[in-house]
Amino acid sequence: MKILIMGGVAGGMAAATRLRRLDEDAEIVVFEAGPYVSFANCGLPYYLGDVITDRDTLISHSPESFGNRFQIDVKLHHEVTAIDPATKAVTVHDHAAGTDSTHSYDALIIAAGATANLPVALASPRTLTLRTIDDMDRIHAILDEPGTESVVIVGGGFIGLEAAENIRHRGFATTIIQRGAQLFPLLDPEMVAPLAAELVEHGVTIRTGTQVRRIDGDVVTLSDGSTIRAQLVIDSTGIAPNASIAAAAGLRIGDTGGIWVDPRHRTSNPFIYAVGDVAEKTDLVSGTATLVALAGLANRHGRAVADVIAGTPDDAVPSLGTSIIGVFGVTAASTGWNETRLRASGRAHRIIHVHPASHATYYPGGSILAIKLLVDPATDLILGAQVVGRDGVDKRIDVLAVAISAGITASKLKNLELAYAPQYASAKDPVNIAGYVAENTASGLVPTVQWHEVDALAEAGATILDVRTAAEFERGRIPGALNIPLDEIRDRASEIPAGSVIVHCQVGQRGNTATRILTQAGHLVTNLDGGYLTWVAGT
Ligand code: FAD
Repeated sequence: MKILIMGGVAGGMAAATRLRRLDEDAEIVVFEAGPYVSFANCGLPYYLGDVITDRDTLISHSPESFGNRFQIDVKLHHEVTAIDPATKAVTVHDHAAGTDSTHSYDALIIAAGATANLPVALASPRTLTLRTIDDMDRIHAILDEPGTESVVIVGGGFIGLEAAENIRHRGFATTIIQRGAQLFPLLDPEMVAPLAAELVEHGVTIRTGTQVRRIDGDVVTLSDGSTIRAQLVIDSTGIAPNASIAAAAGLRIGDTGGIWVDPRHRTSNPFIYAVGDVAEKTDLVSGTATLVALAGLANRHGRAVADVIAGTPDDAVPSLGTSIIGVFGVTAASTGWNETRLRASGRAHRIIHVHPASHATYYPGGSILAIKLLVDPATDLILGAQVVGRDGVDKRIDVLAVAISAGITASKLKNLELAYAPQYASAKDPVNIAGYVAENTASGLVPTVQWHEVDALAEAGATILDVRTAAEFERGRIPGALNIPLDEIRDRASEIPAGSVIVHCQVGQRGNTATRILTQAGHLVTNLDGGYLTWVAGT
């Protein structure tokens, strides 16, 4: 059996090596258009920041290493330029030799990845993308030039923020331009606030709600008319799947622009498969086609497509898009859908915010986490989660991602038996606490309102009751709030006006207790979900 693979990085090489382990006799040829095989693209930003100083660690694989161990024929500088499904052959251009050749296949795997978008307004000799080792080298060289002082990064998504952190880390003036109203739209606005604050704290300038209109020399002109001088512009506005050759071959392309595949990674042609950034995935929440450009998925689907071809197939597990980013001291992670997306699609959802300590408060080094759950009110299944903080974020998001995949409901998070010692967690893990609140909300025991509902409810006559201490109240409050500390609430309940009451504390826990006390005393009470902390972050 002869298997050709187009693209030799995450998806392509995962498929190639798994195929060899399953079939010692198969002929496996990988055509890679670029100069490197299986390089570590996720590490590129950290080389720019001199966090990774040994460039070779990013390119530790070679055609020889795959040849010796796996008998895989990796051909660098070989670009597949056409696929002919009728004759089951590809045309390949050898950039080194300048020649073209034709190669037949029994199975073809397309793992060609994606290419960075380059909006017309960004086209300039100073604009670079960050996708390949060559891109990284070019950016690194410009940063090393004596005249380089200022860098503009266009796009506040993953690559933009990682580039910004690393470039600022080396002392350059760094500005992020973000077209939308908020940075990093994977997170909801109140969750992204600590990330944005951390960037600003470290000297990164963030310009939202504007875009680059044109670049003349080292002058970047924005749509609001202002200008920024920059010796380097990094375009991180997004990517598009490298699906044009597949499209030219008549393969079905999905509405997302990625190659359509069935659950076993087969394209519309039975002998051609596609994995990684070039291919559509199935979204776990909606069941519809989506694009998710993440290394874990590319690797998993690369391995899975080898199983399909070798005859031990398993259907692909739909994607949640679980991801994580760290900038300076803050880590932000998400899985599934966020509130913005749920609202835009009109899908019903319940929201839970909690702010537990990352580990026992009496043990040094912990900090406060922000956890947000989006829950289907009809089934109590978790539709998405976000976690932001300085410590223990990765562990919580992974537990929540597993819970979503395994169909564990939000209320049942309270039952998860998670590892605990004071330096790692609390006896009630933050995930358990999210489960307690989810259960209280689902059962109607403690009805909640969201930070963005407070203004309208107050205008309609609701009393905002702050049950924190007088000292906390003095440090910052919701305008118009009445302060009765929780410990005095039974004695001073007569001071609370009749009608609807929104109770809040710092994070929601004392508000929960106050809500129960006042509800049982006959008041009409809701608790502000996530408390003052969430309200402040969102407003
Ligand atoms: P790619 O890795 O893009 O590889 C595709 C290869 O195909 C390329 O080398 C290309 O040269 C080759 N090719 C294209 N067309 C042809 C052709 N016609 N013929 C032959 N070869 C061709 N993901 C995470 O999960 N976590 C991270 O922290 C993370 N950080 C990232 C940081 C950066 C800077 C970048 C760029 C990406 C990051 N990603 C991260 C995303 C992750 O790297 C990708 O999702 C993953 O590499 C996709 O693998 P792939 O095999 O589909 O495509």
